[in-house]
Amino acid sequence: MSLIVQKFGGTSVGTVEKIRQVAEKVSKFHGNGDRIVVVVSAMSGETNRLVALAQEMQERPVPRELDVLLSTGEQVTIGLLCMALDEIGVSAISFTGSQVQLLTDDSHTKARIRRVDDKKIQQELEKGNVVVVAGFQGVDEAGNITTLGRGGSDTTAVALAAGLGADECQIYTDVDGVYTTDPRVVDKAKRLSHISFDEMLEMASMGSKVLQIRAVEFAGKYNVPLRVMHSFQDGPGTLITLEGAEEMETPTIAGIAFNKDEAKVTLLGVPDTPGVAHQILGPVGAANIEVDVIVQNVAPDNSTDFTFTVSRGELAQTKEVLADAVASLNARELRTDDTIAKVSVVGVGMRSHAGVASKMFETLSESGINIQMITTSEIKISVIIEEKYLELAVRSLHTAFELDGDPPSKADD
Ligand code: ADP
Ligand code: ASP
Ligand code: MG
Repeated sequence: MSLIVQKFGGTSVGTVEKIRQVAEKVSKFHGNGDRIVVVVSAMSGETNRLVALAQEMQERPVPRELDVLLSTGEQVTIGLLCMALDEIGVSAISFTGSQVQLLTDDSHTKARIRRVDDKKIQQELEKGNVVVVAGFQGVDEAGNITTLGRGGSDTTAVALAAGLGADECQIYTDVDGVYTTDPRVVDKAKRLSHISFDEMLEMASMGSKVLQIRAVEFAGKYNVPLRVMHSFQDGPGTLITLEGAEEMETPTIAGIAFNKDEAKVTLLGVPDTPGVAHQILGPVGAANIEVDVIVQNVAPDNSTDFTFTVSRGELAQTKEVLADAVASLNARELRTDDTIAKVSVVGVGMRSHAGVASKMFETLSESGINIQMITTSEIKISVIIEEKYLELAVRSLHTAFELDGDPPSKADD
């Protein structure tokens, strides 16, 4: 008898009919004797709708109240799924994040999970019930509702799987696995049968939103085997484990990730003296704004330009918190650009293969794409380019690194 955590994303619970299909699927596993915990997202589009409502009310919604609002989406789907299960004779019980006690810190809209109290879930599983938990939400020490950041239901599922010692955490979604790049952008993208936590973490961090970054971090830390699968099609999906693909078949590059949610901030003409980076990035960090790529130019005289990227949604706030630094550093100008994008090639095989960077730069130059910033780690190389060249860059790199597969057959053509 296995304990399985199954997570169904927004499109998989997007209509009453789909929720019925999910119930059928859960019922099959339950019927086989497996103990099942289900985590659901809000119906597709619902979280966006709620965000838009909040923004209509307030330009920058009060974070605590935004969480109160956003968490409602998942409360709808846990109730509906339990009803659907009841309809087909499966006993099930739903819990919100605070009922389970998915304890988080108090950073609203991007809270981090501190602890999961699995007592209630274990009790219900013992009674033979399917346990349905609302994804994306938790509760802080003071009892306030928190949310885990967009895509956070993945993290709820992995945290529960880790806490319960589940045999597998299955992420059901609208694609049949993790691909070499987003299959919606490159139709020659190939499904990977196996990928390591490290590679998946880089893919997710670099913008492949098939899994939330924190979910992959959690899975790696607690060694929870993850499988990404299609909700309504059979197939093996993609298994994500410590080892990844077999050594023999490890390709140099596992995939290409990209992210349009980037904005560039440049402080022109700041002094080239110790402490400047701290004076600039200190207030940004204190405002809980994540900085991504950072470049500081070499100074021919005593002044330099300092450039970094943040997510687009946090650009306005970044400008505000930098006002003091701009004044005290006597910067010539604060320049921003939100028409950039980041493209990354990712693969553990890079550790043992030289020449990946030069091949990447050569490919981009052949396509006439200018590189604005570069950053690397042991298993990835990322570049910042103009957003309008993003698709061209991803396609060219996908071909250059020999990742292209057959385009999906169009049965009804
Ligand atoms: P869910 O609502 O089920 O959480 P998401 O929209 O968050 O689903 O994630 C699935 C989507 O991720 C796919 O529809 C696909 O467009 C996108 N995606 C981006 N990169 C990849 C990738 N490398 N492999 C598979 N899907 C990807
Ligand atoms: N409903 C939330 C979102 O749209 C969480 C999730 O789907 O994982 O971001
Ligand atoms: Mg998702």
